[in-house]
Amino acid sequence: MSTSADAVSELLAAARPLIELALAEDVGPGDATSLATLEPGTQLHARIIAKAPGVIAGLPVVTSVFRHVDPDIAFTPYVQEGQAVIRGELIADVSGPGRSLLAAERTALNFLQRMSGIATETQKMVNAVATTGATILDTRKTVPGFRVLDKYAVRMGGGTNHRMSLYDMVLIKDNHIDGAGGITAAIGRARAAYPNLPIEVEVRDQDELREALHAVPPLDRILLDNMTTTQMRTAVELTAGRVPLEASGNVTLERVIDIAATGVDFISAGSLTHSVPALDISMKIGPTMVTDDSALAERARSAKAALGGRLVILGHHYQRDEITALSDFRGDSLQLAREAAQTDAEIIVFCGVHFMAEVAAILARPGQRVLIPDMTAGCYLADTATPQGVQTAWMALDAALGSADDQVTPITYVNSSAALKAFCGRHGGIVCTSGNADRVIQWALEQRPRFFFFPDQHLGANTALKLGVKHEDMLTWDEHHQPTAPSLRESRVYLWPGACNVHQRFRPDHVTSVRTRFPGIRVVAHPECRADVVALADESGSTARIIRLVEDSAPGSQWAVATESRMVYRLQREHPDHLIVPLADVPPFCSTMSQTTLANLTATLEALQNDELRNEVTVEPELAHWARVALERMLAL
Ligand code: SF4
Repeated sequence: MSTSADAVSELLAAARPLIELALAEDVGPGDATSLATLEPGTQLHARIIAKAPGVIAGLPVVTSVFRHVDPDIAFTPYVQEGQAVIRGELIADVSGPGRSLLAAERTALNFLQRMSGIATETQKMVNAVATTGATILDTRKTVPGFRVLDKYAVRMGGGTNHRMSLYDMVLIKDNHIDGAGGITAAIGRARAAYPNLPIEVEVRDQDELREALHAVPPLDRILLDNMTTTQMRTAVELTAGRVPLEASGNVTLERVIDIAATGVDFISAGSLTHSVPALDISMKIGPTMVTDDSALAERARSAKAALGGRLVILGHHYQRDEITALSDFRGDSLQLAREAAQTDAEIIVFCGVHFMAEVAAILARPGQRVLIPDMTAGCYLADTATPQGVQTAWMALDAALGSADDQVTPITYVNSSAALKAFCGRHGGIVCTSGNADRVIQWALEQRPRFFFFPDQHLGANTALKLGVKHEDMLTWDEHHQPTAPSLRESRVYLWPGACNVHQRFRPDHVTSVRTRFPGIRVVAHPECRADVVALADESGSTARIIRLVEDSAPGSQWAVATESRMVYRLQREHPDHLIVPLADVPPFCSTMSQTTLANLTATLEALQNDELRNEVTVEPELAHWARVALERMLAL
């Protein structure tokens, strides 16, 4: 299990009585149907499969359910807690006495489906606000008795827990305020009675907010109850960062981005736990994963062998192990695209996400064709910046500065669409990677006094800070409230507000916590992480640099790594003399990288054997030309 041992122990302690209750309720004195239909010695294998895409949570509880029913049941998970799965993906193999297996099935799935449903809905909300500074919180609206399980599942989805219960925080709500005779009186009594507990106060309007802001010392948090987004924005302006603000009431997936755009710090959503749909998961008797996957891998290997030198398979570092095992090259996006272009292969199969296949198509030699096993595998970060959005910002810069083309160098991170790379090519701009962003920014500042960096605000800010640019010289573009012309003139670095929903999940408290758990451990953060995480880390760098740091360190070295979890686990397996752990308790996985599976890679290769080009990625010649111009400016540095 990927979560910390303490979190799993706490979860299992809370789950034990619930498991006993659920089994007593469901199985009682015995599963009549299984007892009647199966011979006592029958052994069965079953596969637990996701029937819908989602995020998995609750595997330790499922293991415990099976063990409660029969210690002879073997449960083998194939995914990690918090990992995104696609429809049809194998979650676990379970085998053992048939009667026990079927008796435990419903109870085990009920826990897994509910917890994974919560994690899935939480991740949707966390992803929706990933480009803002807002943190998604749960509430106490949990199923009675399931508080620890529900809140654990929220964490698996990337959310953050609000108070656990009534005893660990003072939250003064409207009824307390009315009963105490006002906000100030209620705060005074709470401070006198519980001086060590954090205090949050709920306010219903601006007058109550003003009163709450007068509290000395300042409150730990103020809750804006059921306000409109206009009222929230006014509250944010009035508060001016003095106290963290939480928005609550009627928080839906559709509305959450508008709420986050008001500038509130926290958003709590009762719907994450009180009315969440269960994730569709089933258990089917059948062969084990090992048999099936071996057969699929054998088919892929045989198709690859038949295609010989005509084919090259590229596997990004964040891919599944079974995919990298079949790849000719493993690496990051640009390195892979360049390596493929140096081969004689006619067909490049890029096991990665869409923008990576586009880069390979742009850099490919004439005649080379690029395929991707799943055409819908996009990149959350790349998708945060559209050509229209960037063009709008460019026009605002043009209006504010006289001529954007004279004043501003556009820089796009390689994790962006071909259209944005072409935009940079046309406007004298350039592409960068996480490994060369500092050299590229230095070059950009030699061309013109300002630069516009997209789509990753964190890579742009982290690199600019490293080069000595001050915070006050940077401006993050806000699509909802366009910056004024004077504020654009006062800044020299413009950041698109994009972020990677995987790297954005690392927080400063993860650094503190891992250093407590592993004294002396060194922390390395990918520069797509937030600036406050990078500032606390011992090292920062691209995937290539992270790998180099580990490889060059002495046996016995300890590393906590803030990047996609598959790469971190692989690093640990490949360096057994080191201790290498993910930085976060709930290590994040890239869900779109997960979309490449042994099944769709095999289908791609077998189609190729029949001369069928499936999922070809092409870039329009005009766009490809200008994108290449921007890429070549970078490669020439
Ligand atoms: S890890 Fe982040 S940047 Fe990389 S492909 Fe996934 S979403 Fe995109």
